[in-house]
Amino acid sequence: MTEYCTKDWLIRYLAEELDLDERLEYLFHLDECLDCWGAVYSATKAKHPHYYKMSARQLKISEKELRKLESPPPSEEVVEVA
Ligand SMILES: [Zn+2]
Repeated sequence: MTEYCTKDWLIRYLAEELDLDERLEYLFHLDECLDCWGAVYSATKAKHPHYYKMSARQLKISEKELRKLESPPPSEEVVEVA
């Protein structure tokens, strides 16, 4: 658990209320924290079901692998909330 593991952060992230620094910090946290990643995944999946036909586990693995191959890693591909 970290300071980012709160519903407040999740809600502010999904509502796009974070400033750029906070957003990057939170995205970095999502990469480290399965619980928060899962929460964002579930919330985003509800908004954009057609983007998320794979299971959460499969998507997590494929994104992790992508990040290993790409440098610098893209920061926006984790969630599509727009
Ligand atoms: Zn967390």
